[in-house]
Amino acid sequence: MHNRIRHNRIKHRIIIVIFFTLFGIIELAYPQRAQADPVVHVASDKQGAPQAEPVAQADKQVFEAEQLLHRRSAEFNREIIKLTDNAYTAVGYGVSAISMVIGPNGYFLIDAGIDPAETKEALDEFAKLTDKPLRALLITHGHFDHFAGAQAILAAHPNIDIWAMENFGHENKFFTDAGLTIQGKRGALQSGFLLPREKRINNGIAKTYYPPKATEAWRNRTIPHPTKTINAPTRVVIAGLTVEMMPSPGETYDTMSIWLPQKSVLFAGDNFYKSWPNLYPIRGAAYRDVKLWIDALDALLAKRANVLVGGHTRPIIGRRKVQQILSDYRRGVASVFEQTIAGMNKGLTVDELVATVRLPSDLADKDFLRPYYGHPEWAVRSIYSGYLGWFDGNPTNLFPLSAKERAAEIASMLGGEAQLFAQLRLAQSQNKHQWTAELADMILALQPKNKQAMRAKADAYDKLGRALLTATGRNFYFSTAQQLRKQIGE
Ligand SMILES: [Zn+2]
Repeated sequence: MHNRIRHNRIKHRIIIVIFFTLFGIIELAYPQRAQADPVVHVASDKQGAPQAEPVAQADKQVFEAEQLLHRRSAEFNREIIKLTDNAYTAVGYGVSAISMVIGPNGYFLIDAGIDPAETKEALDEFAKLTDKPLRALLITHGHFDHFAGAQAILAAHPNIDIWAMENFGHENKFFTDAGLTIQGKRGALQSGFLLPREKRINNGIAKTYYPPKATEAWRNRTIPHPTKTINAPTRVVIAGLTVEMMPSPGETYDTMSIWLPQKSVLFAGDNFYKSWPNLYPIRGAAYRDVKLWIDALDALLAKRANVLVGGHTRPIIGRRKVQQILSDYRRGVASVFEQTIAGMNKGLTVDELVATVRLPSDLADKDFLRPYYGHPEWAVRSIYSGYLGWFDGNPTNLFPLSAKERAAEIASMLGGEAQLFAQLRLAQSQNKHQWTAELADMILALQPKNKQAMRAKADAYDKLGRALLTATGRNFYFSTAQQLRKQIGE
């Protein structure tokens, strides 16, 4: 899917035409360091005609990505949103939705947010809406951004019930049981925690956020202990209200959805938010079972809810709207899944699949399926490896050359390592950023500390990042570029 941001194509064509008509220029130059606003710098020194088209094209991609992300930020404005006469969701307090439901005998919370200080602020707002006592906290799944704020809740209300799935904390346990720790570092790269604020617009499905101690907070995270758990659809009465909790493996194996039958309100956890879902997180994770995720969406659809609260982004209110969005979302995910499986059955390789699998055309422009956070191309790769593992069926790849051996062969073919540098400079001058990064990797396989290659790679990552809508990918590019520059003392 090379059409990373082919959405709003017509609108942007019009915008670009207006720009070109107004200014009569062919180059929109951007500063090296990302700005908080999509400032368009107009350069007066025209490039030669052959250069102009790719430069304009690349800048158009940057413009589109940054404009869409800036527009997105409105999703994360702080607000207590009324869902029904007895239910509210706090958005913009931390990075995930924190909800409250008031019953005859008290109230309960659904998810706890990421940051105890911000969760406390949401709690203070909730306390203005009722005099009744807090009875329980229900946690949709075992991800830090949905439970870390529980500290603030439990400090003030130590004896409340904590409801979650029986296997709550499954993903974290899977990593820690193996002794794996790298996911913390990669998580920080994906989340942009190491980046200066001006390198971040938002996180695609959440505002720009920094944990109080950045990576430390992720390493030392503590998981609250549920006092009550479920492992099958369960109806209980909490604070005098009927609540249904349903196991809904999807983003995680410990996800549960929560349904309020009397008020027709549905809480989906991270199986739904307004973005192409993170079917594969680039920080790394075991296979997220897309088939189960689709089943979970079917179960959400079957409720025919009036209100849908996703794990991130603003709630959707109105039955028709909920059904339309959820069914389109389900259809988009199912289509990518089914196309991938069909291609795999034909013996296509991962790269061939990535080049051919597409969202149905009527869904490609839907804002809630845009790749703000996850990316369909990464989903295709994940589905492939999730079912078949790393081997693509081509025996050439059973014991491939090492990166160093391959680079040495190519350098020799070109007439020496100096030719790799010539190709690198050529790729840079042609704004072939991906190819620049790949050539730089080849050089670094032969000369691991080569500063020119590291600088070229960092520059390429900054360019690739700025042209990408997907915030996790932007963060990963920018963070790695920053690390490379640090290594060469820049
Ligand atoms: Zn989340």
